[in-house]
Amino acid sequence: MLPAMPIEVKYDSEQAAVSLNQYGDEIEFRFDFPEKGEPGWKGNFIEAFSTRDTFLEIRTPGEALEFLRISGLFRGIDEDKRHERLSWANFQRWQGIVRILLREGVLPRREVRSTPKAVWVEYAIPENLRPALNDVSVVERGWLSGFPDQLVIRFRENQSPEKRRTLYAEIMVGSTLEAILATAYVDELRGVNYQVCALPDCPRIYEVRSKHQREFCSQACAHKASVRRRRAEQARPPAIKAKTTKTKVIKAKAAGKAKG
Ligand SMILES: [Zn+2]
Repeated sequence: MLPAMPIEVKYDSEQAAVSLNQYGDEIEFRFDFPEKGEPGWKGNFIEAFSTRDTFLEIRTPGEALEFLRISGLFRGIDEDKRHERLSWANFQRWQGIVRILLREGVLPRREVRSTPKAVWVEYAIPENLRPALNDVSVVERGWLSGFPDQLVIRFRENQSPEKRRTLYAEIMVGSTLEAILATAYVDELRGVNYQVCALPDCPRIYEVRSKHQREFCSQACAHKASVRRRRAEQARPPAIKAKTTKTKVIKAKAAGKAKG
């Protein structure tokens, strides 16, 4: 039996000058990469798990720009093509896809049948997220499906009396997105479950640690939700009563006046 093996996600992000451009309603980020060895180029190791948390909490193009300037290359090289453009719409779609991965482990799939003979399998994700997968790379697809090929097992010498080496698993990834996808995969292997906060405008995810179901990421969100629910309930009764009978409408109006 092997002892529990630590897993490391290694990502030396390629730094880039990132700019934000707007074309009509479309907002797009552009990456300008300094050549390797040229002034301006430097290695930049990022910590994958905290990068993922930051990524999921981004809510505005300005925050995304700040994030990309630190994290560098967002999507890797595929068939000699380096992704030098990223739309804000796709940035948000990838956030949605990563949330699904954290909840489900891998992207759920379904069979699509157009004729009795023509059957194919596609990712069963909401339609609005689908455009992000149009040009998904082989490596990215591996992570999404739970069949990554970038895992290696390495060792460290150590000074224990038995002179046994310590083994660890290393994941080498080529882009910020791959690093984020790798963390979701590792969490799935570890049996860590995540849930998305039930407050509609809260982007946070939280770890499910007990069987006791919790709906919100924090006390603050639970409180906000209960305040909103109370407000909604207070606003609702007169409108509902108005639909029933005339006497009730009159009563409701009177009650409303008495309250206000
Ligand atoms: Zn929340």
